[in-house]
Amino acid sequence: MTKKVLIVGGVAGGASAAARLRRLDETITIIMFEKGEYISFANCGLPYHIGEVITDRNMLLVQTPEAMKARFNIDVRVQSEVLHINKETKSVTVRSLMSGDVYEETYDELILSTGSTPLKPPIPGIDAANIFSLWNIPDTDKIKAYVDDKKPARAVVIGGGFIGVEMAENLIERGINVSLVEKLDQVMAPMDKDMAALIHEELGNNGIALYLNNGVSRFVSKGEMTEIHLENGTVLDADLIILSIGIRPQSELAKAANLSTNARGGIVVDSHMRTSEPSIYAIGDVVEVEDFVTKTRTMVPLAGPANKQGRIVANIICGMDAEYAGTQGTSIVKVFDQTVAGTGLNEKTLNRMGKVYKQDYHVAIIHQKSHAGYYPGSMPMVLKLLFNLQGVILGAQIVGFDGVDKRIDVLATALRMGAKVKDLKELELAYAPPYSSAKDPVNMVGFVADNILTGKMDYVGVTELDTIDLSQVILLDVRETIERDLGYIDGSINIPLDEIRSRINELDKDKTIITYCAIGLRGYVALRILKENGFKDVKNLNGGYATYSVQKCDADKGCSIPMTESKLAFHDSGDVVDKSFEQKGQTYTLNACGLQCPGPIVQVYKRMEEMERGDVLDVTATDPGFKSDIGVWCKKTGNTLIESGKRDKVFFAIIKKGIPLNTTVATTKLPDDKTMVVFSGDLDKAIAAFIIANGAAAMGRKVTMFFTFWGLNILRKPEKISAKKDFLGAMFSSMMPRGSKRLGLSKMNMMGMGAPMIRLVMKNHGVNSLEELIQQAMDNGVNIVACNMSMDLMGITEAELMEGVTYGGVATFLGSTDDANMSLFI
Ligand code: FAD
Repeated sequence: MTKKVLIVGGVAGGASAAARLRRLDETITIIMFEKGEYISFANCGLPYHIGEVITDRNMLLVQTPEAMKARFNIDVRVQSEVLHINKETKSVTVRSLMSGDVYEETYDELILSTGSTPLKPPIPGIDAANIFSLWNIPDTDKIKAYVDDKKPARAVVIGGGFIGVEMAENLIERGINVSLVEKLDQVMAPMDKDMAALIHEELGNNGIALYLNNGVSRFVSKGEMTEIHLENGTVLDADLIILSIGIRPQSELAKAANLSTNARGGIVVDSHMRTSEPSIYAIGDVVEVEDFVTKTRTMVPLAGPANKQGRIVANIICGMDAEYAGTQGTSIVKVFDQTVAGTGLNEKTLNRMGKVYKQDYHVAIIHQKSHAGYYPGSMPMVLKLLFNLQGVILGAQIVGFDGVDKRIDVLATALRMGAKVKDLKELELAYAPPYSSAKDPVNMVGFVADNILTGKMDYVGVTELDTIDLSQVILLDVRETIERDLGYIDGSINIPLDEIRSRINELDKDKTIITYCAIGLRGYVALRILKENGFKDVKNLNGGYATYSVQKCDADKGCSIPMTESKLAFHDSGDVVDKSFEQKGQTYTLNACGLQCPGPIVQVYKRMEEMERGDVLDVTATDPGFKSDIGVWCKKTGNTLIESGKRDKVFFAIIKKGIPLNTTVATTKLPDDKTMVVFSGDLDKAIAAFIIANGAAAMGRKVTMFFTFWGLNILRKPEKISAKKDFLGAMFSSMMPRGSKRLGLSKMNMMGMGAPMIRLVMKNHGVNSLEELIQQAMDNGVNIVACNMSMDLMGITEAELMEGVTYGGVATFLGSTDDANMSLFI
């Protein structure tokens, strides 16, 4: 007697199992039930049909029942829903959705590939006619027809996972204004937040308003439009709503048949994909699988694993030895011009597992180009690698424009093969300039990771940097001045890499030094120079300023405001900035494609030096940072940004030359901050200092007041604070005035009478008191720094100084003078 195999579900896993069964055995009777109208369709292509990127609907139908019958002799029964599994009789009950007939079909072996289904929680109003989920061909037809017929102007996608992000992009393709709402503080949950920040930027740059940290509380239908009320009170109006907030396994059949399932409803299977009932197998989205890296149980709804499991089950049913070795979650998605991909574990998962940063795992972040920079069209990518202290690769994430797919696949393969960091260094990967660099990004991340493991490079992550008291370390920016003009980390000092050797004496060997540059490479070189010159504690900022600025920018948006608003405030991408512009001078072009920050800006600067005032430069670049940098640079250098945006995949900017660029104004930011050393503890001098500080702050200037020696008394709290001090410190501090109210005048103090008199005069003239001036300064953002060293000498502790004071040393003060055009000594 020949074997009879029934398959429930005729798409990814089911169709794959059916075809493989037939290829292995001509005699088996194979019946495949599918409750929908279509089998083996391309779920992954559905969003692109709605976006009219895949124009021909038939292209989505990979197989038809007739073709499967003809080629594989498989009895495909569409619109046939399996209602029950009757374990005792080894049969299933089936209803034909066309005729309504219900019948039984017996099996020797049964394969469940019933997939998953979109979640639809009981949110009030969720059944509105313009709310859709996307899962299959009929869903696609409905959404596409709605877009074609109703021409919605505003769409809101709820959920920032793969499908949500793909739908957002495809609705933009259709010319619809799109907002994306996500409950978490980031889109694309498989990525870490630092990498998701890059995706947020890309979504924002393409006009998607992003509402993070925000769930939907209710939908309210108003005619053809629906109001979406978010948890934070925001109300969005939408003509079309796509719900993609997650999925659940379709395991009702399995549960009713008492097959073992997990808490999420996933069917429990062994490594042969066999359920708790030996003659029943389950595959695809509906099953729980082993995580390849952690060896724990998980659920990963992806097409690749479903297809492979289908093949494995067919092998097993045909008597072959096969096992499923687990899922590592390799995934990839297109987000406009960028590609986002990951494999293995992310940092969030590691932390959830109790693994501690730097104690259990390390992070290497690199910014590389897709191929040799000198060959046209090279594009940047950011690669994050996670590895344990033994160098075993735990996971990787990449965001970039080109070549992301092949790098993630190399890393996924390496991970699957149990490769270590050192293996990445040694991988011999194909190279010619149009395709890669002699050191491929995968090699490069291996080098960085190896440097970390072998102690050649200690590093600090951006989040970690926030936990460090920067007044106690030297934050050393080793970029060129022109790069610093485009932004820097507060509190850092600047010594360009090439000047480090000659200026090394400016740095305190006993202090921790954190180096940073644009992307991490020059920071590392600086670190090595310092280490070789006897500096003990030097760390490099992981991913450099590029990683820092994207994360900070993301955080500043608070992840709760529409991205488009912040985008407009942030830079002028894609806009004609100066509509009144009339071309009078010459036009020049500059191709800065392939160059990474600060390359394009440096090239612009050089080219503009050769131009006359009024001439125009049309520059193209591929570095994504260029788009925002060029606006900032133009403002700071007196040039005019006429227009900026994107042509094909390339950024462009049209700039009119302003003031001649052969002055220092052209290359450096005009310093306009104000700094003061407040050395004196005299009331009148303190008043003068704060009046000047408040005046400057009111004019929008950044002001730093550095209080040292007697000046520290101005900042003291009036009450006596008990603090542990040595004898001299206690004596010194007890003899000095506690706070602003006890200060005397520098002249005509008259045994202490001068101070109340001057206060009275000030009051009569409507001048604020010193205490009010201090408060005003704090409210105005004046940076009030107490000198650590003087505090030690004078026996003053932090507890004795007023709230809001920051603490720092000479380096902090000198760092602020770099950007100042006025330094007073009071
Ligand atoms: P499915 O392919 O979903 O097939 C399950 C079938 O079982 C369904 O057709 C259903 O009708 C049928 N069925 C269920 N119950 C019964 C029953 N009782 N009787 C009869 N029939 C039944 N994955 C990726 O890896 N990359 C991507 O880019 C990607 N993009 C996607 C885009 C979209 C829009 C969607 C919806 C999914 C995407 N996926 C992607 C996920 C991928 O499609 C799934 O992981 C994969 O299809 C799962 O295969 P499966 O066989 O388990 O289930």
